[in-house]
Amino acid sequence: MTTPYEDLCLYIDGEFVKGDGRREQEVFDPATGQSIGRLPLATPADLDRALGAAGRAFRTWRHSSPLERSRILRKVADLTRERAQAIGRNITLDQGKPLAEAVGEVTRCADHCDWHAEECRRIYGRVIPPRLPNVRQLVLREPVGVCAAFTPWNFPYNQAIRKIAAAVGAGCTIVLKGPEDTPSAVVAIARMFQEAGLPPGVLNVVWGVPAEVSKHLIESPIVRKVSFTGSVPVGKQLAAMAGAHMKRVTMELGGHSPAIVCEDADIERAADMLSTLKFSNAGQVCVSPNRMYVHAKAFDRFMARFIEATRKIKVGSGLEADTRMGPLAHERRLPAMAEMVEDATARGARVELGGARIGERGYFWAPTVLTNVPDDSRIMTVEPFGPVVPCVPFTDLDDAIRRANALPYGLSSYAFTSSTKKALALQNGIESGIVNINHFGQALPETPFGGIKDSGIGSEGGTETFDGYLVTKFVTQMD
Ligand code: NAD
Repeated sequence: MTTPYEDLCLYIDGEFVKGDGRREQEVFDPATGQSIGRLPLATPADLDRALGAAGRAFRTWRHSSPLERSRILRKVADLTRERAQAIGRNITLDQGKPLAEAVGEVTRCADHCDWHAEECRRIYGRVIPPRLPNVRQLVLREPVGVCAAFTPWNFPYNQAIRKIAAAVGAGCTIVLKGPEDTPSAVVAIARMFQEAGLPPGVLNVVWGVPAEVSKHLIESPIVRKVSFTGSVPVGKQLAAMAGAHMKRVTMELGGHSPAIVCEDADIERAADMLSTLKFSNAGQVCVSPNRMYVHAKAFDRFMARFIEATRKIKVGSGLEADTRMGPLAHERRLPAMAEMVEDATARGARVELGGARIGERGYFWAPTVLTNVPDDSRIMTVEPFGPVVPCVPFTDLDDAIRRANALPYGLSSYAFTSSTKKALALQNGIESGIVNINHFGQALPETPFGGIKDSGIGSEGGTETFDGYLVTKFVTQMD
């Protein structure tokens, strides 16, 4: 028997709160366009209640034992693994990605919880040798306070659990606004933290009109830290608002990741791997390889293989077993794709594959490959966030690196080469927070994930994961 879609609610001060006359927003299955649920939106009073609960809970949670925090995070990791199938199915229903990708997202997040459970026991300070024998100098790292977090719809489980695990593990409390289009994963997370014994108020989940909720939370004097994952323009707005109130930020923003394929690389392997990664989650991935720069000597070989691999991608409902790419997560992404393709073709680009919507039901867009795309076209300069990819040749590696760095983004990047000299030039030359060479190894719990330039501030994961949630206190004491 299949489980029903998640019973959507707010989670405030340890209680699940249903509609009860509140405004509601419909949630749609992007594969069919059918309504699958109704999401209650927080009133201003709900937001204040969540803030009040988070503020009160912080007074005790900040002094909680790291062993207690670790135990709760481990319990959530275990529950995540147990429930991955059901949670994954609901992600496929509201977000659209193939079931295997959705379940994979959830199970990988159990590892994120375990990592935070381990690392939160190692939030150490230090002792600084004093100038006088009767002085003791200590550096303490303390939780920053109540956090406001905003997470997007493309990896609804992953983006939320990373922020929650970091905040909770550091001893902070958190009010999180999840993605209204794809809310089931965040409600499931709240249920698991409640079952794992997280005290009321440490985690609160709210929904609403994004701009209204973020303004309300960020301007509240109770909030000390803002964490956002989403687009660069929205990230800049929220960082500016946080700056006006001198609040710390972690910003995981968009990217426009270049992939550079040198002539000495294993061209077929690079083409297969890049096609798989580019079209996973229908290209709605902040680290998606979005601009393929392929050496002119290998260009035709690469294109033949890349198109062949991409042509095989079966597009359909994420619930069907053989589907490799689902629909776009929301109807508004269809015109976004159309504009990118129209702009490129108007500037002389050739559509090698796809280029249009598939059918009238659901929000399906064909995997699209473009060539002969000028560097100043929209698709080469603005994050596509969808299954459209331009491929262009280069002749000089330094020039390819210069073109890769020409945009204000700096999240991830990819390169394929068999030359150690070129690999070194690439890792030194590319301006991005993450560089993948000859394989894809990013976004593991134990490795830092974050962008530079317009792509963001701060890292999630790795030993850096708690940095954004801690403040430094220096204590000097004389006997
Ligand atoms: P959008 O810019 O309207 O929204 C992006 C995300 O930010 C959504 O989750 C939305 O709820 C949230 N948001 C928007 N305005 C907000 C505000 N004032 N306060 C708080 N949150 C706010 O665009 P969209 O159509 O939902 O998504 C498309 C774009 O978003 C893409 O082009 C991509 O660049 C970006 N995006 C990035 C990521 C990422 O992982 N970095 C994830 C999802 C979307």
